[in-house]
Amino acid sequence: MHYQRSKQLFERAKQVIPGGVNSPVRAFKSVGGTPLFMSKGEGAYIFDVDGNRYIDYIGSWGPFILGHSHPRVVAAIEHTLKHIGTSFGAPTELEIELAELISRLVPSMEMVRMVNSGTEACMSAIRVARGYTGREKIIKFEGCYHGHGDAFLIRAGSGALTLGVPDSPGVTKGTAQDTLIATFNDIESVRQLVREYPNQIAAVIIEPIGGNMGVVPAHPQFLHELRELCTQEGIVLIFDEVMTGFRVALGGAQSLYGITPDLTTLGKIIGGGLPVGCYGGRRDIMSRVAPAGDIYQAGTLSGNPLAMTAGLETLRILVEENPYPALEEKGRQLEEGFTENLRKLGLGLCLKRVGSMMCLFMTEQDVTDFKSATSCDTKKYAQYFHAMLQRGIYLAPAQYEAMFFSIMHGEAEIAHTIKSNYEALEQIYTTAPA
Ligand SMILES: *Cc1c(COP(=O)(O)O)cnc(C)c1O
Repeated sequence: MHYQRSKQLFERAKQVIPGGVNSPVRAFKSVGGTPLFMSKGEGAYIFDVDGNRYIDYIGSWGPFILGHSHPRVVAAIEHTLKHIGTSFGAPTELEIELAELISRLVPSMEMVRMVNSGTEACMSAIRVARGYTGREKIIKFEGCYHGHGDAFLIRAGSGALTLGVPDSPGVTKGTAQDTLIATFNDIESVRQLVREYPNQIAAVIIEPIGGNMGVVPAHPQFLHELRELCTQEGIVLIFDEVMTGFRVALGGAQSLYGITPDLTTLGKIIGGGLPVGCYGGRRDIMSRVAPAGDIYQAGTLSGNPLAMTAGLETLRILVEENPYPALEEKGRQLEEGFTENLRKLGLGLCLKRVGSMMCLFMTEQDVTDFKSATSCDTKKYAQYFHAMLQRGIYLAPAQYEAMFFSIMHGEAEIAHTIKSNYEALEQIYTTAPA
């Protein structure tokens, strides 16, 4: 395999785009090497500009549960493009249809507001929670990602329960002070913050299945206790299901856990590969959003027909085909294959999976929170990533990401992935690094 053209494009891109990419993790910084520029996606496969073909386990970081360029989604987009248009800045029927479908499939979302990204959905959701409660602080969990909004780019200081400090220059101390950090899967860490800041906490936001520190499901009891605590304290519980929504089940992680959050944020799959996010939830809370209420939130391209069409067609296919049992079966095969490989090689690495999200952690510790996730040997992951890439498998170029697969990943792709996983692990764990 050669990457000549990608290398040229990367050099060119770096002149006009910071780091040569429009989102940092694409740059291969944590695994080394040149990011690959893509030319085409088809089903389970993506092709780079040098003509190399890969089985794709990123799926645009989550949206492509139906694989790339699903013929029905492409046809629907074409139809809207030709016969309707791309945007009016005035309402269309498509927005109602998508909102109704989401609300039917995720019943906790009694009302829905469309935005243009997961980041925007999460920023808006906490504004609404703050407006609704009249309180200013929010709690987030270490290792959870809710987009790049200022309030979310905070992690704990030395102790997990201290005031937040900004993770990025440009996030003000004032903002950081309003974000409190708790430990994932540790209800006591939340209780302590609630005691410390009585009647000051507007919202708790959480990924019910952590997908941005690898794949780290919350313990059911932890989530149930969190729900109870929020209800008692009048805190708005926000499930960030931007990744898990329509990925782990039609009703999202909340349907798997049987928990009703007050607000939910969605993105990724609901855009079918176009930029969409949404937030929604309890009618009494959402009724406060402008123009029904006084909490302002707006968007020039929000709910545009093209994005609505891609999302609607994707969700309609998911409803018609109910691919979740088949995805679970594919996941089981991958998980069993990887587990068998680890056993044969005498490796005790942690492997976690929920449906079509999986993560192989380069650590023998059980990963349950951010701290245990950071026990991973990220240098080993970098070697593993490149060893897989050479075998035509495109994984996320960073350890703390999920491996996503689609309904288009068939027997042949799964078998090749399992075989490559064995060879790659054997190469990096039994021979000295080059
Ligand atoms: C991807 C993601 C976001 C951010 O969505 P963008 O569309 O990238 O802004 C927020 N929360 C979670 C859980 C995500 O996985």
